[in-house]
Amino acid sequence: MAAEIKKETCDVAGCSKEAERSISLKQVKESKLSLKPECARAAHLCKDHYREYKKETKKDRKLNNLGY
Ligand SMILES: [Zn+2]
Repeated sequence: MAAEIKKETCDVAGCSKEAERSISLKQVKESKLSLKPECARAAHLCKDHYREYKKETKKDRKLNNLGY
């Protein structure tokens, strides 16, 4: 009954921290984060990179709003 728990690691290039969130690859590609080439579907992000990603997308949205 032992279930194997696979720990995901962060998919950002150069990062080997434990992943906390997974985001669609497309979304991450729109940000400045560069992912490892082996990352094919969902991108797993560690806490730090997820925060970085969120910060960035927030900024983008703000800039878009200013354009109105
Ligand atoms: Zn990371």
